Amino acid sequence: MRPLVLCYHAVSDRWPHALAVEAGTLERQVRALLRRGFRPVGAAEAVEGRGKLLHVTFDDAYRTAALALPALERLGVPVTVFACSGYAADGRAFDVPELAADAARYPGELLTMPWSELRALAERGIEIGSHTITHPHLSRLSDGEIERELTESRAQFEAELGRPCRFLAYPYGETDGRVVAAAKAAGYEAAWALPGREDRIDRYALPRVGIYRGDGALRLRLKTTAAVRGQAARLRVT
Ligand SMILES: [Zn+2]
Repeated sequence: MRPLVLCYHAVSDRWPHALAVEAGTLERQVRALLRRGFRPVGAAEAVEGRGKLLHVTFDDAYRTAALALPALERLGVPVTVFACSGYAADGRAFDVPELAADAARYPGELLTMPWSELRALAERGIEIGSHTITHPHLSRLSDGEIERELTESRAQFEAELGRPCRFLAYPYGETDGRVVAAAKAAGYEAAWALPGREDRIDRYALPRVGIYRGDGALRLRLKTTAAVRGQAARLRVT
């Protein structure tokens, strides 16, 4: 059985968007998984380990994600935050084209963590991974642009945080063979996508389960059970 890796984004009850989960809901979801016997592990074990293992990730490094961290720390659940270095430079609202209208309407809700905050989280034991520089659709870029997004962001994280940047999460969870090859070449140890592609899971296309606003207890159970089952089924035939 492959580890279960959850992918959250913002933590808020004020931003009415699928990406924003309320803090109490998130805590209840993680508690439910722990009650079902999942054992919390760090990012490296979520890559290498097998069994009923749980790791929690937050993409885009919204400042509000920090609201979920005390509860996760109390529950002993290790966390990875995937940040974009181009946003960490000033911590501005996450204004990618898909969210530009939301960034204009809820600017405070979409603020991102600047380097100082990412550094403080790293010192607290949170793993900080790269989510590229600008959060592009990588598979639409030229080879040179992909290389820049993956290599320069990794170098910026290492320089700013003073520790290895070992892991990558693909923006929008999107990847393909060219992007995977670039992630390997850029020196990452592993990279996460989102679900799908059960046919070709490798350490540079690891699946995660995205959890969104409105996912109730039943839906969470279905999503997480299906993820674990689908991967287990695949492992039996390969
Ligand atoms: Zn993202």
